[in-house]
Amino acid sequence: MFENETNDQLTFQDPVTRFPEISPPKQHQSEPGLDTELIPQTDRGQDSYRGTGRLMGRKCLVTGADSGIGAAIAIAFAREGADIALSYLPAEEEDAQEIKAIIEGSGRRAVLIPGDISDRAFCEELVARAVDALGGLDALVNNAGRQIAVEDIADLSDEQWTATFETNIHAIYRISKAAVAHMPPGSTIVNTTSIQAYQPSTQLLDYASTKAAINNFTKGLGQSLAPRGIRVNAVAPGPIWTPLQVSDGQPKEALPKFGKSTPLGRAGQPTELAPAYVFLTSPESSYVIGETLNVNGGTPSP
Ligand code: NAD
Ligand code: MG
Repeated sequence: MFENETNDQLTFQDPVTRFPEISPPKQHQSEPGLDTELIPQTDRGQDSYRGTGRLMGRKCLVTGADSGIGAAIAIAFAREGADIALSYLPAEEEDAQEIKAIIEGSGRRAVLIPGDISDRAFCEELVARAVDALGGLDALVNNAGRQIAVEDIADLSDEQWTATFETNIHAIYRISKAAVAHMPPGSTIVNTTSIQAYQPSTQLLDYASTKAAINNFTKGLGQSLAPRGIRVNAVAPGPIWTPLQVSDGQPKEALPKFGKSTPLGRAGQPTELAPAYVFLTSPESSYVIGETLNVNGGTPSP
């Protein structure tokens, strides 16, 4: 199940040195980017995440589950006892197959559903196929997102602005709406927002705006669904080393110092995000609703 007991998420250790400080070389991948080609490689918990039965028997749909944070979530959820439907883009099949094998190696089911969530019809199809394959749905993680850095608003096209909103927030509304129709009391939705929601970078005007919207949507929908026993929360990552960063998510010259300005002094690894999603999906967080849990290496956030 897991091979690295000395570095699993339950072992007492120093967060400064749990993972090495990395200085990624300048590199480029075309969008959406692949974990298989990322330098250096990331820790998605494949050899370290230790489950304790907190999501036993749950039926989960995770978007962007092929790579980065979403892959770490999918692996952790499977180790905690859940079956997983994985949403990703067709170009990411290689990454998705790798995560599928890890989930199955953990004794759980992995259902692959490639497709573009910026397409309204596909959002509904995605949920229908997940429900069909898993025999229901009681957990949704809206984690997919696109981030393309543009230095000057003069160069920020209407097409990019619209595509970012379609993928990052319109899809969350559409997938959540379709999912809620199938969800029994006890179900959960967790959305991936960002520190960009509060501290927007000048080159991420479209992206940061969608992340602020996700926080607000989480608080509104959380109140709306609470009486039905469905809880909605969010996680706001700081700088996490994933393929998003090398597929134009950051200016190239920013890559070597990525994450170094956090109080911990290093970028986060995707597996360090997973416990936050596990907590917000597990029944142990039954009184937590509309919350955004910041996992960012110590940068102050509201
Ligand atoms: P990632 O590239 O590994 O994951 C993003 C995923 O989004 C892709 O794998 C892809 O499958 C999916 N996606 C993008 N456009 C899609 C589309 N049109 N249809 C279907 N799927 C699509 O990168 P990541 O960093 O793990 O990103 C996961 C989430 O974390 C994103 O919402 C991102 O905004 C957020 N986030 C990341 C960081 C960071 O530093 N890496 C920081 C804050 C927030
Ligand atoms: Mg990917």
